[in-house]
Amino acid sequence: MNSLDAIEQDTFISAATPLLNLITHITGLKTSFITTIDWQAQQQTVVIAQNTGDLHIASGSQLAWTDSMCQLMLSEQLTATTEIQLRFPDSGGAQLGMQSFVVLPIKIADQMIGTLCGASDDKVELNNHQIESLGYIADALALQLKLTIDARNAEAKMDSLRDQIENLATLANTDPLTELLNRRAFQQRYEFAIKLSKRTKQPLSVMMIDIDDFKQFNDEFGHETGDAIIKMVGDGLKYIARSTDIPCRVGGDEFILVALNTDSNGLMLLAKRLNDYVKLHSKQLQRPCSLSIGIACSSHGAPEELIRFADEALYMSKASGRDAISVYQADDA
Ligand code: GH3
Ligand code: MG
Repeated sequence: MNSLDAIEQDTFISAATPLLNLITHITGLKTSFITTIDWQAQQQTVVIAQNTGDLHIASGSQLAWTDSMCQLMLSEQLTATTEIQLRFPDSGGAQLGMQSFVVLPIKIADQMIGTLCGASDDKVELNNHQIESLGYIADALALQLKLTIDARNAEAKMDSLRDQIENLATLANTDPLTELLNRRAFQQRYEFAIKLSKRTKQPLSVMMIDIDDFKQFNDEFGHETGDAIIKMVGDGLKYIARSTDIPCRVGGDEFILVALNTDSNGLMLLAKRLNDYVKLHSKQLQRPCSLSIGIACSSHGAPEELIRFADEALYMSKASGRDAISVYQADDA
């Protein structure tokens, strides 16, 4: 339960508890409880229950409105009965051992928002005066109960909005085909990684990846096969990436992986692992799929140009005939 809900609920319970005590006091029923009804979900919830005998109604318990004792009673226009076992032998109440049951609707402007109930495992006859008194108690509870329901609904709406915002944020940051970060989200993460690397003086490495002759896959086997290959390479990137790495689909058939606290040897290992993954997973393709990879590393505080260096290394791999891994070599990188 969230905090707003909890406060409303606590307030309601404080207000309702003495009134439930009053009910058992004036009627002799051993159990009294208050429920809310969610008409949309057709569900009834026990908000608070007082049990002084063997019957046990649990606060917080829920049941379908169609299975509710209140529903059974109200549909037969009954307010109170001592004949639960006879009249409703198949009901949940009868199974719990109830003999007596009383139900008063709790209403706001003619809309039933809940019920005030009493029950007992013995026969407790109620006179009109007692039932009228319960009606007044139900009226006294109505506004307070409505506030509780409104707070609960508002919080549920907030939760749903929060989820929607989270989903939108994920959508805005994610490449839909590979479910990797998109370029926009990558840029933010990368800038942070650069700052971190400069501050901690830890190495930062960048790997640029481009699928070789990818256009031919599209041309020969169709766009769907092309998409499947892009997705497979994306999966490979996820497979090799550690939780602190930043894998991204830059666009088209091009990917990037930024690895914190990793030098060129470490990234070379990851690149080989990615190559192995792609070779293994493209076995069933009619044409082999290979990658060109460029790596650039900064061993003492990362320069912003790192991506450009990795791109140059990637170009070297393409120029050398593709299916290759090149490392950018520069004293200051
Ligand atoms: P190279 O070895 O030089 O990289 O050759 P290439 O054919 O792979 O050339 P390039 O990387 O320039 O080709 C990228 C192609 O990727 C161009 C475009 O039609 C295709 N492409 C871009 N985005 C998508 C996509 O989402 N799905 C598919 N199926 N194809 C895409
Ligand atoms: Mg390509």
